[in-house]
Amino acid sequence: MRLEGIHHITAITGDAPRNVDFYARLLGLRLVKKTVNQDDPTVYHLFYADELGSPGSDLTFFEYPGAQRGRAGAGMVHRIVWRVASEEALDFWEERLRKEGIEAARESGQLRFSDFEGLDLELAVVETDDAPLTADHPEIPAELALQGFDAVRAFSVEPDTSRRFLEKGLGFRPAEEATFELRGEERGSFYIYDQARERGLGGAGTVHHVAWASPQEEHEAWRQKVLEAGGSPTPVIDRFYFRSIYFREPSGVLFEIATIGPGFTTDEPLEHLGERLSLPPAFEHLRDQLEPVLTPLPDSRARESVG
Ligand code: ZN
Repeated sequence: MRLEGIHHITAITGDAPRNVDFYARLLGLRLVKKTVNQDDPTVYHLFYADELGSPGSDLTFFEYPGAQRGRAGAGMVHRIVWRVASEEALDFWEERLRKEGIEAARESGQLRFSDFEGLDLELAVVETDDAPLTADHPEIPAELALQGFDAVRAFSVEPDTSRRFLEKGLGFRPAEEATFELRGEERGSFYIYDQARERGLGGAGTVHHVAWASPQEEHEAWRQKVLEAGGSPTPVIDRFYFRSIYFREPSGVLFEIATIGPGFTTDEPLEHLGERLSLPPAFEHLRDQLEPVLTPLPDSRARESVG
């Protein structure tokens, strides 16, 4: 029984229209689901991914309109790392970001920058046999596109406290120092600790949690394993597009284990993912109340900036 790397990463935005512009138009991800936060249905939950809405490529945002910016600190993920295929891809992205006035730091094999709310992002040239998870975009050649997640980096006060839980409980394997690999049959991802400098503050531009991918039939068994490793998982929660459990790892980062499937085509066809507001059955009766209060969003596949 092995987890298949990162399933999705969820962060917070205070500005959904700019968020769509940044991640769909500029970075070229596909908005695959436009739904509401199931714990607060008056605000959006936006899902960006590859063309098929695959686990391993799925970055999601809770929108809290006007939310103050947060700051990543101890017990929080502070950077999201995507794979790209080549140094040529980094050249392309360096130039594309420069044209938008976004500062990026280029080093051998990586390009680092932040989104408009200060969320740190990195593109890394990675050699892997994992399938590239890319979205179609008229301005971004497929061979230069983002290919899904490689890693998340988190701040820890003391990474050794987490080591046993990660290795014994969840099947992470130690790689380099403070780097752990979680690899299943299809895919893998890295979880990397950096030393925390200070306490963090949740808010816009911070990561809320990272979810690891489980086959549907093994999900309940993973909950049991988390319990046996000393974790305190929630009951299984049906998120309609997948099932989830949540718990904190010993360094404080909020983890989720989410099922691979049923997926985003469970309530709309692949070719129209993300175009209209999707409400799981338990929320459908709220549609007439929710649509007027949700922030209008730009066409996620438009070429022009919304400013
Ligand atoms: Zn989640």
